Amino acid sequence: MKNKEIKILLSAPRGFCAGVERAIEIVKKSIKKYGAPVYVRHEIVHNKYVVDSLKAIGAIFIEELEEIKDKTRPVIFSAHGVPKAIPLQATKYKMEYIDATCPLVSKVHREAENLYKAGYHIILIGHNNHPEVIGTMGQLPEGAIDLIQDEHDVEAYELDQNKKIGYTTQTTLSIDDTQNIIKALKKKFPEIKAPFKEDICYATTNRQTAVKNIAKQCDMFFVLGSRNSSNSVRLVEVAEQAGCAHAELIHSESEIPFEQLLNCKTIGISSGASAPEILVEDFINKLKNKFQIKIEEVEIIKENIVFKVPSKLN
Ligand code: SF4
Repeated sequence: MKNKEIKILLSAPRGFCAGVERAIEIVKKSIKKYGAPVYVRHEIVHNKYVVDSLKAIGAIFIEELEEIKDKTRPVIFSAHGVPKAIPLQATKYKMEYIDATCPLVSKVHREAENLYKAGYHIILIGHNNHPEVIGTMGQLPEGAIDLIQDEHDVEAYELDQNKKIGYTTQTTLSIDDTQNIIKALKKKFPEIKAPFKEDICYATTNRQTAVKNIAKQCDMFFVLGSRNSSNSVRLVEVAEQAGCAHAELIHSESEIPFEQLLNCKTIGISSGASAPEILVEDFINKLKNKFQIKIEEVEIIKENIVFKVPSKLN
């Protein structure tokens, strides 16, 4: 194996986005300010490595506020956003809370609220049960938002003729699949109101475009990220749709397919917005132990977006 040469096309940008950096910083700064433990509702971002490293410094992850034994401790809401009922519940419990919702998810929340106030019925394009979708739907009373997951849902969707409709989307969807759903929606409802600015976020867009740019040249493509990370799973799909015959997610329990790599000249690597760069480095080091590796980074755009943490933590 050791004589086998493999070229790695390293997709860039990849890994942490500004929303993830901010959410992790919020947990670290909260522990510094309030001491440990600090509760976090849901995985702060969908990555086991990140969650484990925050647990090690005093974060306790829970799914619902009821689970918190000591309600004198603060609680942080994850980057995916929460339904409106959750901060209200924290207030009822007299708990201090810090909201780590990504500002780009909050933007979608405000959009949905504005549409609702203007008398629109809202269609949310997204994945059922994803926490971001639960959070967005929970910004408005039940029945104000309908979820559409694919073009079949559009076909089957029926609307009261007198209603105006508008749509918003989850921030981490596949750009191409979403465009097809939007096309189908516009065909069925020509008057449908589109968001003022695209809801799929800059980080999702850049990571997918970068993968698309190199996938066709790769015999295999690897995306570092967790199984419950929507944007990581989408990158695997994008690599395959863009012409790579074999793309796979490398998560905490994955085995590296060394035998299959023996048949590869060029492979691609990227990582989801919640995956730290150390996971990419570890993966490449494991490949270096077996093969002669050449790395070429292919960057399509420089990212310089930074989101500030809430001022009360500074
Ligand atoms: S992927 Fe996009 S929406 Fe999600 S945290 Fe990152 S910047 Fe925010």
